[in-house]
Amino acid sequence: MSADIESVEAFTERARDWLATNLPSWDDELLDDVVLQNRIFDGGFGGLAFPPEYGGAGLTLAHHKAFYETADELDRQLPGKYWVSIGMVAPMLLERASEEIKQEFLPQILRGDIVVIQLLSEPRGGSDLAGVMTRLTRDGDQYILDGAKMWSTNAYLADYGVCLARSDWDVPKHPGLSMIIVPLDRNDDVTVRRTRMADGQMGDVCEEFFDGVALPATNLIGAEGDGWSVAQTLMAHERNQTAGVGFGYLGSGNTTVMVVDRSALAASLAATARARDVLDDHSQQLADVFVDSIVTKLTSARIMRGQMLGTHEGPWGSAGKLLGSEAGHRAALASLATTGADAVVWDGDEISVENAGTAWLLARSSTIGGGTSEIQRNIISERLLSLPREPSFDRELPYSEVVRNASKF
Ligand SMILES: Cc1cc2nc3c(=O)[nH]c(=O)nc-3n(C[C@H](O)[C@H](O)[C@H](O)COP(=O)(O)OP(=O)(O)OC[C@H]3O[C@@H](n4cnc5c(N)ncnc54)[C@H](O)[C@@H]3O)c2cc1C
Repeated sequence: MSADIESVEAFTERARDWLATNLPSWDDELLDDVVLQNRIFDGGFGGLAFPPEYGGAGLTLAHHKAFYETADELDRQLPGKYWVSIGMVAPMLLERASEEIKQEFLPQILRGDIVVIQLLSEPRGGSDLAGVMTRLTRDGDQYILDGAKMWSTNAYLADYGVCLARSDWDVPKHPGLSMIIVPLDRNDDVTVRRTRMADGQMGDVCEEFFDGVALPATNLIGAEGDGWSVAQTLMAHERNQTAGVGFGYLGSGNTTVMVVDRSALAASLAATARARDVLDDHSQQLADVFVDSIVTKLTSARIMRGQMLGTHEGPWGSAGKLLGSEAGHRAALASLATTGADAVVWDGDEISVENAGTAWLLARSSTIGGGTSEIQRNIISERLLSLPREPSFDRELPYSEVVRNASKF
């Protein structure tokens, strides 16, 4: 670390004083997310590891981690709606966007004045991301966007999305892709709809329809045809976010992080099982919840440390994401098993979604969102362990010649 950068210890003390005075505790009246993020940014604690020319504080990920850790230690309120925008999209823009885009977007994102989300998955499938069909057509100094996206987290509250689209159908699937910024806060040619989740409630995920949306060519992130590599950068930050490491480490403001301490849950499930006289039947499952909790936290801490030291760059977030999301699903199964019939029934007429049954339904989504567990295993085997690549029949073909959505071959 450079000698002129404030030490993490001195920074932590400064952050502690500021947090204690300027952010309310979770027991106080809840403040709006925008107010909280504006306050953090204006106090000099927004975008801690971003360069000052883009609104950041010019510090490091170690300072970033110390700030959020201290906020949680002091039980301070943190904003919840920025984990895609600040935790994933902002670091991707920092690495990949043009100077103009960085100057325009990063200060607004880091202050919480705008929200930018990601538009990757489509109705035809999300795992084969390089096969996206949304069409980006060059027209003079602008592009026209047509197509549909789905499962886009927080799109209903976003101002912009970064959208992966096919700009060239005559080259193989990967080099035919481009990434472009799309405004979402308009309704003439962009439609955004929220999606109902398996628990019956409206979720944070949305579907979008683009109908001849004209976009300036300067909205491209990277060059035309760079979309796949830009998407890889974005998804690496997404896996960091779900694993609770890197820029995605946002303390209790990141409610979707999959690496959580479930030791108290294991203890309370053991008490429930004992009261229902089924402890012997489920003791191994409950012990696994406790062990998972410790192992995922240690793994996450190890990856975060490696990122700060430079030894765990690249797709290490996939290991944390896989471990955390599978542990979450196992914990939900254990809750279901130990709670018995109480998991799916409730007292009174009001339907309650606060039960182990619906929690189990939602827990499956964490092993799918951000790339499924099977895809994380592929990434770990190919990119961390250097095992052979998965066979592909369409990697070299021009995309216009690839058989798509065929019911018969
Ligand atoms: C809560 C949630 C939030 C999300 N947020 C976003 C978001 O913000 N932005 C966004 O763009 N998308 C988002 N997604 C979409 C998510 O990325 C996709 O759902 C995911 O990539 C899987 O795509 P799919 O659902 O189309 O399943 P498919 O790709 O059709 O996969 C179906 C099954 O086949 C398996 N499979 C597919 N290919 C392979 C392979 N090569 N090897 C082994 N198994 C394979 C999969 O693992 C899965 O079990 C979100 C999803 C959820 C559930």
